Amino acid sequence: MSSSKSNMVFVATSDLAGLVRGKSFPVSEWEKRSVRGVGWTPTNVQITCFDTIADSPFGSLGDLALVPDPATRFQMGAPGNAVDIALGDIESLEGEPWDFCTRSIAKRALRELHDLSGVTVLSAFEHEFQLMDAPVRAGDSFGLKGFRDGQAWAEALIAELDRTSCKPDTFMKEYGPSQYEITNKPATGIVSADNAVILRILTDDVLRRFGVASSFSPILDPDGVGNGVHIHFSFVDDDGTPLTHDASTPYGMSDLTRHFIGGVLKYLDQIMALLAPSEISYLRLTPHRWSAAFNNLGYRDREASVRICPVSGRDEEAIARQYNFEVRAVDAAASPYLAYAAIVFAGTQGLRDRIEPQAPTQEDLSLLAPEELASRGFRRLPQTLVDALDALDGSKAVRTWFGDDFVNVYLAHKKEELAQLEGLEWQEKCNRYKEVY
Ligand code: GLU
Ligand code: MG
Repeated sequence: MSSSKSNMVFVATSDLAGLVRGKSFPVSEWEKRSVRGVGWTPTNVQITCFDTIADSPFGSLGDLALVPDPATRFQMGAPGNAVDIALGDIESLEGEPWDFCTRSIAKRALRELHDLSGVTVLSAFEHEFQLMDAPVRAGDSFGLKGFRDGQAWAEALIAELDRTSCKPDTFMKEYGPSQYEITNKPATGIVSADNAVILRILTDDVLRRFGVASSFSPILDPDGVGNGVHIHFSFVDDDGTPLTHDASTPYGMSDLTRHFIGGVLKYLDQIMALLAPSEISYLRLTPHRWSAAFNNLGYRDREASVRICPVSGRDEEAIARQYNFEVRAVDAAASPYLAYAAIVFAGTQGLRDRIEPQAPTQEDLSLLAPEELASRGFRRLPQTLVDALDALDGSKAVRTWFGDDFVNVYLAHKKEELAQLEGLEWQEKCNRYKEVY
């Protein structure tokens, strides 16, 4: 009989390309490796999603450590083929967080928010993905048949998630062909982004055991539906008291919520290259796809970049706990840590500067003339990755939050990724990304 225990521990980082990479060691080495980590190379940060290497300021020089966070360790896989996974932080050999470690950057963003306001983020990632090469059932949007097709792997996936900090809230057959959606339960701080990484790892791993290949890529077909990542945000104080809702305001937003959203919307075009970082991301971010095309706040509107979500609670205490807003402009080509960091930095800036968002929209902004959009403070989000990168490049705010070195390395990384796609048709570009994400 094969043992159900793992022989190896894999230390994982979710990198600039939004992919999970890392190194493994024998389980017996845990005590030593959980402190010292495994060796890591600075230039790895420039490995693109297509495995080419972008211009790197580090060249062949330098050494780092990828150090597992023991709290994240979980076992994955069937008996006989199991492995322990631990999410890690990249550190200097002296133990300092590395400026290009996505998880460390997200932790810093959360710390800055807490230092400013005593606020902890309670958030949940909602992921859409599609099966590749699966027969498509007609008439099955939100369907029972598709749900039943997926039930066996979904139950296996839920059983594996149960060994981790990632707890699913709902699972469903989404609108698109072979498209499914899993929403996580809320978790505080960095754990929520960890859970997004874990969900992507396990979905791929479990479904493959069932002979099913899945893709979280932003869009598989230029004319088809997109696969979004919506991040739901709420806030608590150190005692766990909810801070997001204020029943006395028109849409229920507390001052904290309003200013945080104000910051996110003010800086949204400048952080899009971190939230939706692939060339094909911008096929998804077009009007009438229920994704996000403008920097608008919507009240229960699924075409808004930031949407105030409905709650089912009836009394004030339940409403205050459930009340949340989601940022819909994200996709799974982004490392959850980078998207999360960018949103939290922008929201924190909103609190610092008491930024007011525009009133929530309940109309189709794509019907408005550019002058009217501008006079009401709305902007079309960047329509290509190149435009999004230009906005990032020119953003003093993003350069302050992430540091010039990080922004410059990120720009070089994405330039190389774009070069790999030069001359391809859009469907071919989708095919390249489909395999990767
Ligand atoms: N598929 C849509 C997106 O790309 C989201 C649809 C929905 O769940 O509202 O974000
Ligand atoms: Mg959905």
